[in-house]
Amino acid sequence: MEWQPGLWGRTRTEPTASTPSTKKKWITHARHDQHGPHREVGRSQRLAKFAAGGAVLSRESSPKSRLITLDGSSGEGGGQILRSALALSLLTGKAFRIVKIRANRDRPGLRPQHLKSVETAALLGNAEVSGGSIGSRDLTFRPGTIAPRDLQIDIGTAGSTALILQTLHLPLALRSTSPTRLTVTGGTYNESAPSFPFLETTWRAHMIGLGLPVSVSMPTAGFYPAGGGILEAWIEPATPQALILENRGELVKISGMAETIQLPGVGRRLADQALKSLAAHDLAAEIEACQIAGIGPAASITLTASFTQGPPATFVGLGKRGKPAEAVADEAVDQLLEHLASPNGVVDRHSADQLLLPLAFAPGRSLFTVTEVTEHLRTNVETIQAFLDTTIRIEPCTDGPGGRVIVG
Ligand code: ATP
Repeated sequence: MEWQPGLWGRTRTEPTASTPSTKKKWITHARHDQHGPHREVGRSQRLAKFAAGGAVLSRESSPKSRLITLDGSSGEGGGQILRSALALSLLTGKAFRIVKIRANRDRPGLRPQHLKSVETAALLGNAEVSGGSIGSRDLTFRPGTIAPRDLQIDIGTAGSTALILQTLHLPLALRSTSPTRLTVTGGTYNESAPSFPFLETTWRAHMIGLGLPVSVSMPTAGFYPAGGGILEAWIEPATPQALILENRGELVKISGMAETIQLPGVGRRLADQALKSLAAHDLAAEIEACQIAGIGPAASITLTASFTQGPPATFVGLGKRGKPAEAVADEAVDQLLEHLASPNGVVDRHSADQLLLPLAFAPGRSLFTVTEVTEHLRTNVETIQAFLDTTIRIEPCTDGPGGRVIVG
């Protein structure tokens, strides 16, 4: 299969009028009459108690008042536990409480992008939320009836727009009857999160492979610290299907894009350095340099490797003040070389945890190989299994960091 770029492509124009922000008016349902006041889950009510270090602390036994309690410090201990729980809660109708939110991060608790995920998920699912404020480390989310709709979200910082899309994508795709449009303003190029080129190429290819058509565009780029980027997504109603991604075959080509805002000559330097570093490993590439719209100065380089089988793998190097262009280029090159050095993985180290959620809702058995079994992957397995009975097994390789993941 030929993996197509985003339907709308990237629009390199001047920024359009900014998107109106979503107001905080999302706690609408007085459902305490059904569930009683929020409270600590009693020992006697616990249905399942997982081994110490697991993400799940408890599940209440009564299906009506079921409250899954998650430990936000377990495993990776980042925002992904919360985001996966929000999507799972919307899709299953199960309420959850998460404690020690993002305990393993420098600034623990809810940051603006996490809070926006909560607020928007609550709006979408008519949910009752407590503990939804910046810095909160303890949050309870009780979903009502999901009502898919177009959404416009302004994070208000350079927080990751992609991670908000990934929180809402599956609930919108699986529960809507017509296409929905999601517009998120914030960061479109972020450290430790999917940047737009990854989303447009690799994530989108994976979603299409799963039977979940989604288009994305970025009218304006947003980098740290200014933000102001816009991510637009058009999500088709769909049902995920199982997939087998066992071998990636041969490397077909490496293509790249050096993107800059207000930094004359830097795009070319990024591209030249990446070409030089790749050539040192006998690898050729085609890399374009271009200016993009957004608040600058900013720079990034994206390298995408396509294979004879399966989706491409995309790696991004991000510029920041004081970091030489050559170091930015080599950051992307090093990630790509690491991926190529693991011949047994189809799925890159970042996509693996992002694939799990849709696969958990796909009927039948799926299998994929991954170049690295990360803590994000292991943690997401635990979070999913707190909500679903789906079996997910990770079989680590004996001779490297990779592994096989079997779902269902
Ligand atoms: P925090 O702010 O709590 O660190 P977070 O909200 O950024 O956390 P994490 O729990 O760290 O959330 O999850 C980050 C997500 O971004 C994971 O799904 C991870 O696979 C993905 N990710 C990280 N780096 C990249 C990258 N370079 N390319 C694509 N995806 C990435």
